[in-house]
Amino acid sequence: MSEGTPRVAIVTGAARGIGAATAQRLAADGFAVAVLDLDEGNTKETVAAIEAAGGTALGVGADVSDAEQVQAAVDRVAAELGPPVVLVNNAGVTRDNMLFKMTEVDWDVVMNVHLRGAFLMARACQKYMVDAKWGRVVNLSSTSALGNRGQANYSAAKAGLQGFTKTLAIELGKFGVTANAVAPGFIQTEMTKATAERMGIAFEDFIKGAASQIPVARVGQPEDIAHLVSFFVSEGAGFVSGQVVYAAGGPKA
Ligand code: NAP
Repeated sequence: MSEGTPRVAIVTGAARGIGAATAQRLAADGFAVAVLDLDEGNTKETVAAIEAAGGTALGVGADVSDAEQVQAAVDRVAAELGPPVVLVNNAGVTRDNMLFKMTEVDWDVVMNVHLRGAFLMARACQKYMVDAKWGRVVNLSSTSALGNRGQANYSAAKAGLQGFTKTLAIELGKFGVTANAVAPGFIQTEMTKATAERMGIAFEDFIKGAASQIPVARVGQPEDIAHLVSFFVSEGAGFVSGQVVYAAGGPKA
């Protein structure tokens, strides 16, 4: 990398929520950021916010669970922005249901986006990190990895991501690549809003109820998670790898 050329980061699911905040934070940290989401059109707002703040961004449409789309997206990022050496696997979905009502589709969709998606993205990006002898992978886990009623699929996927993270740390460490996971608690985004809607609770009340159980007496904001991702991606964090940090406003999920 020549002096002054920004390193390139890919953030998946970056059209909104935690991904959008993370993309903006990494751009502010000096990375050129590929804002990847299912629909390229939906990335416009995040890209515009990064550019308005003086950063560099590229909107890319891809389904992270589709191998061909992932390869095409990563190739495009490498060609248009430069070799991606930072990957934040943030794209996510929920298909909550109690076990007895959970369908195979509920199970497969969640596994495919979180686990297959993180695998495909990491596999496509690793060669750029290995070539650069430097890289950072951050995977979005969740406090649900510890178990959560109605989320057998999601909790299994988020726990799976922790094992995936630790194995990447072991395999890629000698190439200067770290892999870590962030496990957020309740973060105020469209995802938690949709959960409130499904439960028939006003989002404001849902937030108040959650905050009353959280030691810091508030729910998390996307920027809280972006801050932790920024740490893991930073130059100085090169000796921190294979870790899972719970960011939940307290010691318990
Ligand atoms: P969000 O607001 O629902 O945003 C998720 C983004 O991912 C959306 O833009 C969505 O696009 C995109 N996406 C979904 N499937 C995709 C696919 N196959 N390929 C590419 N992009 C895809 O969610 P969030 O709350 O910011 O959550 C971000 C991550 O943090 C997720 O992994 C989530 O599981 C995790 N997390 C969230 C919380 C929380 O409390 N919010 C807590 C713990 C962990 P579409 O809109 O087009 O579907």
